[in-house]
Amino acid sequence: MQDHELYRRILGIESPWQVERVELRLESGEVHVHLSHEDVKEWACPECGAACRLYDHQAERRWRHLDTCQYQTILHAEPPRTECREHGARVVKLPWAEPSSRFTELFEALAIEWLKAASQKAVAELLKLSWDEIHGIMERAVNRGLKRRKTEAVSRIGVDEKAFRKGHSYMTLVNDLERSRVLYVAEERKQSSLDGFWETLTTEQIAAIEAVAMDMWDPFISSVEAHLPDAAKKIVFDKFHVAQHLGEAVDQVRRNESKTLKAAGDDRLTGTRYDWLRNRAAMEPRDRREFDALRQSGLKTARAWALKETAMALYNYVYERPARKHFRWWQNWALRSRLKPVIAVARMLRRRFEYIITYLRHRITNAASESLNAKIQWVKYTARGFRNKQNFIHAIYFHCGGLDLAPQATK
Ligand SMILES: [Zn+2]
Repeated sequence: MQDHELYRRILGIESPWQVERVELRLESGEVHVHLSHEDVKEWACPECGAACRLYDHQAERRWRHLDTCQYQTILHAEPPRTECREHGARVVKLPWAEPSSRFTELFEALAIEWLKAASQKAVAELLKLSWDEIHGIMERAVNRGLKRRKTEAVSRIGVDEKAFRKGHSYMTLVNDLERSRVLYVAEERKQSSLDGFWETLTTEQIAAIEAVAMDMWDPFISSVEAHLPDAAKKIVFDKFHVAQHLGEAVDQVRRNESKTLKAAGDDRLTGTRYDWLRNRAAMEPRDRREFDALRQSGLKTARAWALKETAMALYNYVYERPARKHFRWWQNWALRSRLKPVIAVARMLRRRFEYIITYLRHRITNAASESLNAKIQWVKYTARGFRNKQNFIHAIYFHCGGLDLAPQATK
């Protein structure tokens, strides 16, 4: 078998394409395979498939292919252009590569498989690719996947924000709480960030959304209210964010009180910060006995803590009416507590209450996407090469979007 035939077989090159010349460049460790085509009367227009005559050829292009043994393998060809009556001169579809890529589909498929399992840095080194090339492969894969995504119904979603580079700027994420995947990513956390999500959905898909878990963040609320019919019955403020606000109030009370006590030589509250934030039921018996003495002490911190625990009991109710009654009672107690941080949170919860009580109907939190969060953390951790947010967004879709990423020909 001649090396032409060998390469034709290895590369899976089919008629009318043929291997014209194989050139081994030992010093650079490369094999260059030059392709040409037989004289074909008709070529399919890439747009409409109509049989058209050959118009001309583009200048020679190159595509990186899978290595042959240790040699980087590069295909060369002059892509033919057809002349379609309707679409004019167009480059024909090449069987080995997608139109915009400098890699063959098989090479991209390999890179995609590796990128799923290893960091971008590792794949870049192993396959000798630049950051831009890695990002190009990921971007094409994501675009392919998003185009293939079905317009199926998603009934419960979570809207979340993520910090991109410590404290600087944010991203908006929409998660499918049922299938644990990211549906949408956008820059910033403005109303317009979330507005873009609704444009990706069909009217039927929007109608199928039953509940939205989210933080108490006005721009997101405005976007949901503007796009989701009956939003008032569907928005559920995240339970853990409610707990977090209350926890911060307890901590504020503790800090103030601890200072006053210390000045009087009383260090009962010193070093207790985490005891007030922890779950009492999960404490060791001895710790719990100590903590119980503290929480029954009549200290302001103990009162703030009791208020927090009582507020969270709201989530144990099954029916809305007694839950509303519980909250009204709690609110009166909180507002009369003379504990400023608690009063501030009580006012906020009162203002937001209609979107808190919806929890009893839908029972969702953003925590359903914790496993996703872990994946996103991994993406952030392994991708120190992100030069811009767009690359980060592609990487989130790539790893967390549940997308079908492979090039068409390799499936
Ligand atoms: Zn055409």
